[in-house]
Amino acid sequence: MLNERMSKLGDEPSAIRELFMWGLQRKKVVGDDKVYDFSIGNPSVPAPEQVKACILKHMNDDPVALHSYSTAAGIEQVRNTLADFITRTYDFKSSGSNVFLTHGASGALAASFCAVTLPGEEVIVPAPYFPEYKTWIDTAGSTLVPVACDRKSFQLDFNEIEKAINEKTSAFVLNSPNNPTGAVYPREDLEKLADILESKEKQFGTKIYLICDEPYREITYGAEVPWVPSIYSRTIVCNSLSKTLSLPGERIGYAYVSDIMENARDVYVAITGAARALGHICAPVLFQHILADCIDVPTDVTPYAENRALLTEMLDDLGYEYAEPQGAFYLWMKALEPSAQTFSDKARELDLLIVPSESFGAEGWIRLSYCIAKETIINSKPAFEKLKALYE
Ligand code: PLP
Repeated sequence: MLNERMSKLGDEPSAIRELFMWGLQRKKVVGDDKVYDFSIGNPSVPAPEQVKACILKHMNDDPVALHSYSTAAGIEQVRNTLADFITRTYDFKSSGSNVFLTHGASGALAASFCAVTLPGEEVIVPAPYFPEYKTWIDTAGSTLVPVACDRKSFQLDFNEIEKAINEKTSAFVLNSPNNPTGAVYPREDLEKLADILESKEKQFGTKIYLICDEPYREITYGAEVPWVPSIYSRTIVCNSLSKTLSLPGERIGYAYVSDIMENARDVYVAITGAARALGHICAPVLFQHILADCIDVPTDVTPYAENRALLTEMLDDLGYEYAEPQGAFYLWMKALEPSAQTFSDKARELDLLIVPSESFGAEGWIRLSYCIAKETIINSKPAFEKLKALYE
C-alpha cells in the first residue's frame, strides 16, 4: 500500500519551484530577458576556481579509492581538517569526532531532528521559516511550533519564545543569516535566547537542543554571525558548501556536535543512527575531499552586495517597504495586500516572479531572491512600478 503522507509530499507543489518552473516555460515564449525571476535560491556566483583545480587534481587519484564508500561519518582526514578550521576560526577546540559529514545542510538537519526529538514533542521555529523544516520535523514525528518574529525587524521576539516553550519542547531552530528575511541575530540576542532555554530546561527538567542552520554563515554585509556552541552548549550546527562556495548540487555538508555538550557522544551517535535510518551511508566522497581542500577559500559576496544595493535602491525609489537584509541573498518585502499569494499572482501577470510568504509560515510578505543577474534587477523596475500602480 502506498504511504499516503509520502504520496502527498511527492505531489505537493513547492511555491518556489512552481514559480521557477513557470518562469522557465514563460521564457521560451517571451524571451529570457523578459521574465524577472526572483524565485529560487540558486547561487549566481560561480564556484571558485580553486574548486575546479581541486576536482582536476583528484582525477589523478586512484579511482577505486576515490569513488569508494567512506565511513558513515566521512573520511577521517577530512573531518580533522574541518575540525581544525573550526578550532582556529572560532577559537573553539574541536576534533574530527565532533563532525559528521552529510548530504548538504538538509542531510544534517533531517538527521538532527530525528536524533533529538520524539513523536509528540515540539520544535520551535521562528517564523517566517525555510519551508523544508516542516517536512523534516514531521518525519521525526514531532510538531513544528512557529513563533512569530518581530514584525518590523524580523529579529527574535523573546516574549513569544518564552510563551511557546513548554515541557514538550525538545528543540529550537535558529537560522542565521536567515532565509527568507535576511536577518542576522546579534550576539546579545543569542545570549538572551541561551538564558531562556537554560531556564526553561531547569523549570521543566528537560533538554532543549538548539539546532543552528547556517548555510549562509559567510554571506553577510557587515554583520557578525556568532559561533553559537560557545554561547549555548546544547547546540548542533548544520552547515554546507551549497551557498558559500556555490555548490548546491554537490550535496556536501555536515553536522557538528561539540564536546562541551554534556551528552555529546550520545547525541553524535543518535545523529549517526538517524542518518543511517534515512539512508545516508556516506556523503559524496569527491566533495568530501573538496570540502577539506577548499576549507580556507573565502566566499565572494561582492556580487550579492552589489545586487542588494541595486534592489534596495530600486525599491526605495518606488516606495516599497522591506526589511533591510543583513545576510544571505534574500529580501523580505511587504506585499501591497493581505494575501501575498494574490499579490504574487498579480506580479506573475507582469512576468515578475516573487515568492509569496504563505509557504514560509507568514502572511502578507514576499521573498525576493537576489542571487540573480544584475540586468534582471535593473530591467525589472517597470514591472515593479506597474505592480505598485495597481494599488494606487
Ligand atoms: N537551510 C536553509 C535556510 C536553506 O535556505 C537551504 C537551502 O536553500 C538549506 C537549509 C538546505 O541547504 P543544502 O543545499 O546544503 O541542503
